[in-house]
Amino acid sequence: MQAIFWGVRGSYPTPGPETVRYGGNTSCVEIASRSGERIVIDAGTGLARLGEWLAQRQLDTGRFDLLLSHMHWDHVQGLPFFAPCHQGKAQLAIHALRPDVVKLRDIVRGVARHEFFPVALDDMAASFEFHEVHPGRRFRASAFAIRPFRLNHPFGAVGYRIDGDNSSCAYVCDTAPFNLLLHKKHFLKGPEPLSTTDRRQLQNLRASLVQAVQGCDTVIYDTHYTQDEYARFPHYGHSTPDHALDLLHGQGVRRLVLFHHAPNHTDAMMDEIDAQYRHKGEQLGIEVVTAREGLALPIGNAASSGPMHLVAVP
Ligand SMILES: [Zn+2]
Ligand SMILES: [Zn+2]
Repeated sequence: MQAIFWGVRGSYPTPGPETVRYGGNTSCVEIASRSGERIVIDAGTGLARLGEWLAQRQLDTGRFDLLLSHMHWDHVQGLPFFAPCHQGKAQLAIHALRPDVVKLRDIVRGVARHEFFPVALDDMAASFEFHEVHPGRRFRASAFAIRPFRLNHPFGAVGYRIDGDNSSCAYVCDTAPFNLLLHKKHFLKGPEPLSTTDRRQLQNLRASLVQAVQGCDTVIYDTHYTQDEYARFPHYGHSTPDHALDLLHGQGVRRLVLFHHAPNHTDAMMDEIDAQYRHKGEQLGIEVVTAREGLALPIGNAASSGPMHLVAVP
């Protein structure tokens, strides 16, 4: 299988000359099997580009399993702009963590409320299905076996392990590390003291993530911040490449993909981050790749899945 990166940015889109090489669209990754089946993870503005690419090839009328990590703007904003939503024969199966109070369907509908977008979800040509994701409960989507696990992020998020084509990858986004603070259902103004229950919960979150990524070929991880930035904003719910490497080291993971780049990270900064962590990864025996828009990354046996390349994005 391969992972194709349609949007790699966190928080908000960042077009412009300083982000042209790594890309400015927000989170969206396609996982495609060798036989051409696909799932899409997250619906940031990168999803609109995937839609254009599918429409150009007249591949926009099938069934699409769309797995959402959570509902923050940078993970849902591309949904109303996804060309298959406006095609009569397309079926979109949306899988997402059910928030405590409001139903999943209503939240997804909210993304295309008339105040934000002229076509309501119910008026779109495609048909929609909604599936609640329960951390720890496995399910199948397209050709893939999916294992969801809970992450440490304000108001909750889930990551996914995806198995298919005799290989595996994991999508770990968005998440803070699992030591300093525990994100709950309120905004943290800064680190709050941890109770014994909080500490136990953090240990459990970390343990379930470690278990889920065991032996994974490729792990795509929220590495939004540099170390300095993290020190200033530890309560915003994101990690650094060091956090990712610390967690993955010793778990049989072959490759880490740096993902969800902070919007202020220019191409020049990303080049520095890329060089620094490729080196650190080499020392730990983990290949580090920095995600960029249009990157098609073979997962698993490289000989059978071909070399890394950039797809021609519209
Ligand atoms: Zn995000
Ligand atoms: Zn988020």
